[in-house]
Amino acid sequence: MMQVVSRALGGFAGSTAIVGGGVLGLTLALRLAQRGERVTVFERAPNFGGLASAWTLGGVTWDRHYHVTLFSDAHTRALLRDLGLEDDLRWTTVGTGFYTDGRFYPMNNALDFLRFPPLGLLDKMRLGYTIAAGSRIQDGTPLEDIPVEDWLVRRCGRKTFEKIWRPLLLAKLGERYRDASAAFIWAIIVRLYAARRSGLGAERFGYVPGGYARILTTLEARLRQHGVELVAGAEVTSVRGQPGGDGIAITLAAGPPRTFERAVLTTPAPVAASLAPDLSVDERTRLTSKIYGGIICASLLLDHPLGPYYVTNLTDEWVPFSAVIDMSNVVDRTQWNGGALVYLPKYVRPDDPLFEEDDAAVEARFLSALERMYPNFSRERVQAFRISRVRHVFPIATLRYSQQLPPIATSVPGLLLLDSAHIINGTLNVNETLALVERGLAALDALPRFVASQLGEA
Ligand SMILES: Cc1cc2nc3c(=O)[nH]c(=O)nc-3n(C[C@H](O)[C@H](O)[C@H](O)COP(=O)(O)OP(=O)(O)OC[C@H]3O[C@@H](n4cnc5c(N)ncnc54)[C@H](O)[C@@H]3O)c2cc1C
Repeated sequence: MMQVVSRALGGFAGSTAIVGGGVLGLTLALRLAQRGERVTVFERAPNFGGLASAWTLGGVTWDRHYHVTLFSDAHTRALLRDLGLEDDLRWTTVGTGFYTDGRFYPMNNALDFLRFPPLGLLDKMRLGYTIAAGSRIQDGTPLEDIPVEDWLVRRCGRKTFEKIWRPLLLAKLGERYRDASAAFIWAIIVRLYAARRSGLGAERFGYVPGGYARILTTLEARLRQHGVELVAGAEVTSVRGQPGGDGIAITLAAGPPRTFERAVLTTPAPVAASLAPDLSVDERTRLTSKIYGGIICASLLLDHPLGPYYVTNLTDEWVPFSAVIDMSNVVDRTQWNGGALVYLPKYVRPDDPLFEEDDAAVEARFLSALERMYPNFSRERVQAFRISRVRHVFPIATLRYSQQLPPIATSVPGLLLLDSAHIINGTLNVNETLALVERGLAALDALPRFVASQLGEA
């Protein structure tokens, strides 16, 4: 069969183009190259890594968005094992806090929970039961039919929803939380409970010294060893099937077009729709109808940690960011020359005016809020401040999400779609992203027969 296809496709037979050099595109490239296939990865940015990429902040190179690996992240750990980095993972348990009505409260164990003043005992029991029972639900599909607010209010009551859940949903999804199904919150509960179980009681969070910069450098070196062509700073402008199913033509913003036997788009769904005009109307609708969340994520290098919590959840709506992530509670500060790294993420819609606001205005507002929240904090302690903006981070798990997935193998012979829009009832994290790689490989394995049938040879 392969000879038939090879004959039909000429010199580019057996070649695969991957558009998007994030963790997904790079890992798919690695798996294909390990099978001896010819692979080229096109990445628009000057560096690889996408959402997991690193940058430099005040002389420190670290992840531009906060990243931890959970003890239970089997796919992530398998990749790190393959790269010879798994044994380097450093694990720790972390503290979680709540900032509510102008005060900080720990939320690390049952006692903290019982002492948490904003809720009465009955409310707490209902909340605790909802989380414990939710973690035992095996299949979240039926929850896709229920709006997340309805599910939570029914189980926990209106007061707990307003005091706890609504601010957390607003923090993660903005006002679009109203479109999310109960499967969204279920997926978060399950992920955090999985960590707790596999971490022998307490949640264990890990990182590789050197951060994602080191993981990505190791991955890139491994890809080059396998002969993968890595092309950074290469914006793909269109991906089109050749007449007669004769390969896939890729055009770039700069440089000559290239032809491959097959191509995999790993970009966010709306970007994929704009790059591939030959997709069917149904395929395009499935891509463009996804409701994406975006992010404005500030990184601050400080002289000292802000407090004892890795994550501080915020329920006071005046605070201009969604949470406080104090990475110093996970990562040894020697990694940053003794400094402390804090992230202030704000989850927003892709068309939020914050994307246009200049950095100085965002910085001033964020620092004022920190000064109001933390009496020991003053802006003189900030050694460096940098803002990352991404319009399309992840699609919101809307009602009946799994019935509206884009296909992986498309109607365009040789063209595949694979991105976070294919994560069903899960949250966005590297582990879920890497789980997609297996699905991509399976779809690619099925492809030669499909291409041959398009050529009338099946
Ligand atoms: C704030 C934040 C915190 C996170 N925290 C964690 C965490 O603690 N733990 C965890 O496991 N995961 C975390 N994640 C999730 C993790 O980063 C993602 O799961 C993962 O990086 C997704 O990889 P990807 O390759 O699917 O997508 P992306 O990283 O989005 O990759 C897509 C790539 O396509 C490229 N591209 C787009 N258009 C074109 C074009 N026209 N031509 C060429 N290239 C193009 C983009 O530049 C990008 O590099 C976090 C994410 C964010 C945003």
